Amino acid sequence: MNLTSPNPFTFFLSLSIVLLGSAPQGYAQSGSQSPKPGLPNIVLIYADDLGYGDLGCYGATKWKTPRLDQLAAQGVRFTDFHVTQPVCSASRASLLTGCYANRIGIHGALFPKSTTGISASETTIAEMLRQQGYATGIVGKWHLGHQSEFLPLQHGFDSYLGLPYSNDMWPSNPNAAGNFPKLPLFRDNTIIDDDVSAEDQSLLTAAYRDFSTDFIRSHAKQPFFLYFAHTFPHVPLYAGEQFRGRSGSGVYGDVIEEFDSAVGTILDELEAQGLTDNTLVLFSSDNGPWLLYGDHGGEAGPWREGKGTVFEGGIRVPMIGRWPGHIPPGIIQDQLCSTIDVLPTLARIVDTPLPKTKIDGKDISDLLTGVENAKSPHDALYFYYGVNELQAIRSGPWKLLLPHQINLIEGGEPGVGGQRGRYNRVPIEQPQLFNLSSDPGERMNLAQQNQKQLAIMLELVEKARSELGDSLVKRTGSENRAPGSTVK
Ligand code: MG
Repeated sequence: MNLTSPNPFTFFLSLSIVLLGSAPQGYAQSGSQSPKPGLPNIVLIYADDLGYGDLGCYGATKWKTPRLDQLAAQGVRFTDFHVTQPVCSASRASLLTGCYANRIGIHGALFPKSTTGISASETTIAEMLRQQGYATGIVGKWHLGHQSEFLPLQHGFDSYLGLPYSNDMWPSNPNAAGNFPKLPLFRDNTIIDDDVSAEDQSLLTAAYRDFSTDFIRSHAKQPFFLYFAHTFPHVPLYAGEQFRGRSGSGVYGDVIEEFDSAVGTILDELEAQGLTDNTLVLFSSDNGPWLLYGDHGGEAGPWREGKGTVFEGGIRVPMIGRWPGHIPPGIIQDQLCSTIDVLPTLARIVDTPLPKTKIDGKDISDLLTGVENAKSPHDALYFYYGVNELQAIRSGPWKLLLPHQINLIEGGEPGVGGQRGRYNRVPIEQPQLFNLSSDPGERMNLAQQNQKQLAIMLELVEKARSELGDSLVKRTGSENRAPGSTVK
């Protein structure tokens, strides 16, 4: 693998463009209005492939995350928070729209050859907030379509710096040699580096950090929404020079520590601008750790398996929220919630109507702010994966795993040093019912001995299938909407 940059100065040139380029235009967009007084700023940080067990406050011991731990100590830490799918594009689609990803036609991960992306008829958090007068910026990984009509500026964001999809979708990927085109870096709608090198990747965390602090400074006097969708710790891993070897736990730990430091710098900038008290900061991850990469993957903590499976390790993620004066410090929230709840919760906080098209998320502002005895608003959460396969469903402490083919690392072989390992692909042949309260590791199938609960779960499965379909049983849903497509 040749990781030497063919154009080592391109990235520095790109950074100059970022720094010298016109400042984001703010909220003077058509259809927006002057902001109501008192609206909070919102900083939403979304890691890529960071596991439930990768932060100190969630049990990590191999590396240190002092700034994220402090953030959790100053606010709320969720312990039963989920993504909708254990994979990048689908997870991001749900976060930004409040919908199950398959409701809006986004399945799995998009690739450089994909001709689909987020539909213009869906409403993103950025569009919703911009209507309320927010300045909106995104930095990092978009992954909801890389053709021009799908890029962030066409979906509610005023400004963008980042990669359009995963950082391993590039020619230097040793596990897919020659299969990918050159990896582009975008500033707004323009490619400013058409061949991101390994060296460039090592500068990304710092570039994203600087974009974030610039954005906060530029918009300190108006409400803003900053979506920092980090490229890392998705493989291939690159830490900045200052952080290499710092964790003592390999490059994965170094990357996590650099990310933590970047978050800290962003929090410091909020403080320097006097915005700490009026800013809601949220931190989560798009799916569990990619265990296939062994020492280049993270940790799922107490949960089984990781990314690419609907065992808890793939779908249960950290979620931290800080908003001084609104969220009491140091609270733990154990109610069942999901990324689809972020949009409706923000809608309530900024007092704006929900999108006109149906969404799946619920307002969890009471859970976020620690209202006593507040309960999860969800009767059930559905977990689809692949192309519209309903693989699992959750209700209260109960989880039903449905028959499907699954890639396990248990019985397989994790990779070493950035190389892909090998999965153990096995069929799940019968529905398996777990009680996560007594069996968090999902090992004891109670389907036979608890037929009553199995029947309740199967009723919920039927509801999901009738609305959103299920390719595993060849069902078509009545409510699925088409994604955007460049093929007309
Ligand atoms: Mg991911």
